[in-house]
Amino acid sequence: MASRYRTVLLFGAPGAGKGTQGKILGNIPGFYHLSCGDVFRNIDINSPLGKLFYEHSSRGELVPDEPTVQMWNQHMHARTILSIYKPKEDLLILDGIPRNEHQAQLLDKHIKVLKIIHLVCRDKEKMIERLRRRALKENRLDDAREEVIRHRWSVYERETYPVLSQYPAQIVSEVDAVGSPAAILANILHHLVPVQEAHFANRLSGESAGVH
Ligand code: ADP
Repeated sequence: MASRYRTVLLFGAPGAGKGTQGKILGNIPGFYHLSCGDVFRNIDINSPLGKLFYEHSSRGELVPDEPTVQMWNQHMHARTILSIYKPKEDLLILDGIPRNEHQAQLLDKHIKVLKIIHLVCRDKEKMIERLRRRALKENRLDDAREEVIRHRWSVYERETYPVLSQYPAQIVSEVDAVGSPAAILANILHHLVPVQEAHFANRLSGESAGVH
């Protein structure tokens, strides 16, 4: 098997803050952040995949697995060729994929999951309120209607949450999704820095990593 991308999954319900945290992490050297939803949103809406995305996301449904994973794969390939993502140096932070057990199986040959950050929110109504605010700010169709937001949540509970149990419990770290972005970031880094140090050479000091 070709070497798999060393990966961290940002996991959590819609509105838990995966995108916010992922974007910050992606600005730190040695981390490469990829949000599957962002890749979809950047596709030409008139292309076949753009239309498929529109049809599903506007109803709060998942896009079918095969085109999703294929798009993800092409994106990773392109970023690697352009050296925007450097698999030997960067920890891949995936947000929004895998979103069901089948996607997790399809991705398994491409990624080696070293850690899962589970952003936990016990207050569902608070998360739904966050999504409503984001819909106004970012003009997102999938969160513009209350019923679509609630449907997204039920899809998460039914299809995405069970993905967690496909990975060993010891690689899952729970982080409280409620708090200031800086406090949540500090908690996430507390779990991620040791992963990065164990698996990657330190680019600044030139020290090599213990484990590969
Ligand atoms: P959020 O982080 O708020 O849950 P995303 O930006 O990750 O939202 O996703 C928005 C929409 O994009 C989803 O509701 C779904 O329609 C589509 N989507 C994103 N990632 C996937 C995926 N891995 N599989 C299928 N559909 C996806």
